[in-house]
Amino acid sequence: MAPSDLNAFLKLNKENLGKGNSLYAGRKYMLPKSSSGESSGDAASVKNSTVAKASPAVLYVPLFGKKYARVDVLDRQLQGAVYYLSAGHGGPDPGAVGKYGANLLAEDEYAYDVTIRLARKLMEHGAIVYMIVQDPDDGIRDEPILEMDADEVHYPNVKIPLSQKERLRGRTNAVNALHAKHKGAYQRMLAIHVDSRSKSQNIDVFFYHHENSPLGLNLANSIHQIFTSNYKRYQPNRDYFGNVSHRSSLYVIKYSHPPAVFIELGNIRNDKDQRRFVIPNNRQALANWICEGMILDYKSQQKLSGL
Ligand SMILES: [Zn+2]
Repeated sequence: MAPSDLNAFLKLNKENLGKGNSLYAGRKYMLPKSSSGESSGDAASVKNSTVAKASPAVLYVPLFGKKYARVDVLDRQLQGAVYYLSAGHGGPDPGAVGKYGANLLAEDEYAYDVTIRLARKLMEHGAIVYMIVQDPDDGIRDEPILEMDADEVHYPNVKIPLSQKERLRGRTNAVNALHAKHKGAYQRMLAIHVDSRSKSQNIDVFFYHHENSPLGLNLANSIHQIFTSNYKRYQPNRDYFGNVSHRSSLYVIKYSHPPAVFIELGNIRNDKDQRRFVIPNNRQALANWICEGMILDYKSQQKLSGL
């Protein structure tokens, strides 16, 4: 960035800068139009325009890592939608851990990678997205083996407690505080896991919702529907056994104020599932399909409310 661009950047984003003009992980930043002729979208026109026009076409999200920090907003299909994405476990808790050759695969790292890919995808369609669990230095990772670490934090930058109960309470409280702030908007919460049952069991993608939440059920059904049709289309010889059911006892489903869906993407301790998850393209495909389902849900709700 040229120095004049840097100044423009600081000016555009002054409300989101910390000490010494530092950036916060997980916040959106606008890019100024480059004076060197390299266009970065219409962000420069933001200052004097109306609120509707103020949503920039290019976002800069350091949390996604260097390679993916720039997000081009491709369309506004999800304009008005607010999402809370909670990758399972994290911090001192790796979740389920599987052995893969000489490596260990931790549930929290793989859940995180799919979740952060999903966050970026949703933002490409104009959604507001909060990553409730954040890793300040991982970003989106294209390596097969995702190294285990313990530096994840809760939104906005809170150490993840050791006790499971406090951990779940911490992330649910973060979601609920934001939910109050966005009162009146379409809001949904997604918790993403790569759980382990018994080692031998390779599992399909399962969706859980609260039995008293028709909106949670609708979101779960929408994503499930996309998975079913995409599997049919791209892997016609593969039987897909995923399903939707209610599991109201799950803490994050029970206590989060926005309608919530809990997704199990597979079993990190199963050989077959492991081979699926170490391929970065597969993690991206999962994120893409979940995103497709979320768009389907948002559109169906907009139709219902006559928007
Ligand atoms: Zn889990």
